[in-house]
Order: sequence, then structure tokens, then C-alpha cells
Amino acid sequence: MRSRRGFLYASNGAPTTTSRKRGRFNFFDLLPDDILLLILMKLVVSAECPADFIAVLLVCKRFNCLGLNPFVLSKAPAETFAVKPGLLSAADWFFQRCAGAGNVEAFYIMGMIQFYCFHNHKLGASLMAKAAIQSHASALYSLSIIRFNGSGGIDAVKDLITGATLCTRAAFLGHVDALRELGHCLVDGYGVIKNVAEGELYLMQANLQELAARQSTQLPRLRRRNNQPQIFLPVGGLTFGFTPQNCHPANRFLISCYNGLTPDPMLRSCSYVGCGRVETRVHEFRRCSACSVTNYCSRGCQARDWMIGHRLHCIPLLMFPIINADADAGNI
Ligand SMILES: [Zn+2]
Ligand SMILES: [Zn+2]
Repeated sequence: MRSRRGFLYASNGAPTTTSRKRGRFNFFDLLPDDILLLILMKLVVSAECPADFIAVLLVCKRFNCLGLNPFVLSKAPAETFAVKPGLLSAADWFFQRCAGAGNVEAFYIMGMIQFYCFHNHKLGASLMAKAAIQSHASALYSLSIIRFNGSGGIDAVKDLITGATLCTRAAFLGHVDALRELGHCLVDGYGVIKNVAEGELYLMQANLQELAARQSTQLPRLRRRNNQPQIFLPVGGLTFGFTPQNCHPANRFLISCYNGLTPDPMLRSCSYVGCGRVETRVHEFRRCSACSVTNYCSRGCQARDWMIGHRLHCIPLLMFPIINADADAGNI
């Protein structure tokens, strides 16, 4: 038997001295490409950051060649594309190559960047549509938001029926925000025929799904040194356990791209900390009906922002005179 470096093993398993001279043989080279592609595909699917994928490419020359095979690139998960805005030009070849291999995540993230960062609305929407055709739930939901809001510049118009259709498709693929949006649409008769009972059922399902997902993935797993779990309460408007890292890499890119500032002071960004969408025209997003301070691209973002802290800060406009009167009296 030979080792990977070609050494011959003795019967007891140890490499012999003579085998080193004879051995020029590598079992790794004998492995067919198909098997290596399957191994690489499994490795790439489990990548949690771009560095994981790069580490696979750096193993050896053969992995480097086969790692860029379209079969492997088409399976790259969303986290592989989690780049920061400053590194986008360096990662552009990788995005293009993955998109050429038919990777739906590459289509979606490139579409979001083109639509909301580069303001190339037609190209962005067409890239997202390529992902949506292949049943990418986030792409379907993002396109429904675009249709509901009439995003895409001054000339764009709202298309409620198309928005509701896309939202329904995303909801049935398991997208929680889409399910919540569909529930509100049914309750209000917004783009669909009004059906309050069915809408409330969808809203309940969305809440249950989100609760289950939060319990399984987002609960803080930090422990004290004595191995006791820590309990955190909402502080400063944010519930512990939620960070922008919990959201999709496309949203993380938008968040770090704008960093809370919009390119035009007239345009507002979505107030939900995990969204990052910015208006493409003035007064595109809806305001919180109670305080009129926060703006949201969708009801999904509004519901999430409410749960992670806006409920603690939302002060109805009717209460402002009382607060001002208390301030004048020196009570505040
Ligand atoms: Zn939003
Ligand atoms: Zn509010």
C-alpha cells in the first residue's frame, strides 16, 4: 500500500526506507475529476464566509482548477458573496463567473447592488428576475417590494397585482416576510381580493414561523465563565441576539454601503436595521402611522423593527403636546 506521497507501507503500516526511493506515485492524482468535483461541491455548500471558499482553492493546484468549475460555482451559497463595498471591484470577477455558472444567489445579490447602490434599475431588476425565475424566495419578495412601492425612479409606477402575485409565490416558498406582507394585503384588500380571515391566518403563521426560527437560530448562546446562560433585556432599542449579521448578505452590503446616510437628503432609508434599502424616488417608503418618524420599505421590515425595539420608542403624535407641556413645566 502507498501513502499520498507515494511511499510504500510495510505490512505493519509504517513507510519503509526503500519505498521512499521507489515511490513516485500519488493516489490523489488517480482520483477522477467527478469525485473531486462532488467533494468540492460539498465543501463550497458549507462555506460560511468568502474565506472558506478561498481556503478550498488554495489547497492545491488541482483544487484551484476544479474549484472554479461551473458545477461548483453554481452551488456557492449566499455567504460566499458576503463582500464589503470596498472589495466589490476585486470580487467582481467571482460574481460574474458564478452568475455565468447560473448561481441564483449571485444573480440576486448583483441585482440588489445594481438596483439600490448603482441605481441601474433595469439591470438590477432583470438580474433579480433571473433568480426569481428559479424560485429564489428573497428575489421574488424583493421584486414584489419594488412593484408595491413603484421603485425605479420617477417614471416607475406601482403595480399592486404583480406585487401581490410575486409576494404570494415567495410566501409559498417559505419566505416569512412575504407571508406577513401577503397577510396584510388580504386584510386590507391591497392588490388582492379582501379576505380578512385568511389574511389573519397568514399573519399568525408568519409570527409562529418567525418565533420558531428565532428560538432555533437567533437566541443568544453566549455563556458566562461559570457556564451559566446569560439573560439579556432590550436595551437602547435593540433586542440582544439580533445583529445585521443575521440578515442576507445583499442587505448587509446595502447597510455598509450607505451606513445610515442616503446619497440624496430627500431620499430616506428603511429604518429597519437589517434592511438597508434606500428610496429610489421621494416619498416612496411608508412612514410609521403612529409616530411618523420611522420609514419602512415594507410591512415585513416594519413588523421586524417593531419587535426589535421600535415599540419602546414609538410615541404617537397625539402625545407630543403632553410631552411638550411637561417639558415646559420642568417635569422632563
Ligand atoms: Zn426595509
Ligand atoms: Zn412609530
